[in-house]
Amino acid sequence: MSRQEIPFWERKSLDEMDRREWESLCDGCAKCCLYRLEDEDTREIHFTNVHCRLLDVETARCTDYANRSVRVPDCVTITIEVLQDPYWLPQTCAYRLLAEGRDLPTWHPLVTGRPESVIEAGQRITGRSICEDDADELEQHLVDWIK
Ligand code: SF4
Repeated sequence: MSRQEIPFWERKSLDEMDRREWESLCDGCAKCCLYRLEDEDTREIHFTNVHCRLLDVETARCTDYANRSVRVPDCVTITIEVLQDPYWLPQTCAYRLLAEGRDLPTWHPLVTGRPESVIEAGQRITGRSICEDDADELEQHLVDWIK
């Protein structure tokens, strides 16, 4: 196999990827749009089923991606810098996996060539979350189905 035949995510480091390649790493699971609680002592992350009000749950995409950081100050933009310590991202997140030197999962759309493979693999949050506008205390919404 020539070097050009190797998929870009195996051939390039994260900081070598162009914008289109970088954006295509996102599998559209929307797990990072769920609120989570962190144990300050252990850094253990506990996911909730409460999603950000900007999330369109049907498409699993942000409804105001360009302005998300302004409208939701807690929303972390994924960059090379923040991926130095990606413990707070879901374990299946492509950015985290590559930052940790691991492979993309077999169901990732880049691997399958089909965007719906993330849904078929049960990785998208659609149908399993509620909007923050309808939620009470986050502690009441902890879930264990996020990996
Ligand atoms: S967790 Fe990672 S792969 Fe999933 S939607 Fe967020 S950025 Fe994309």
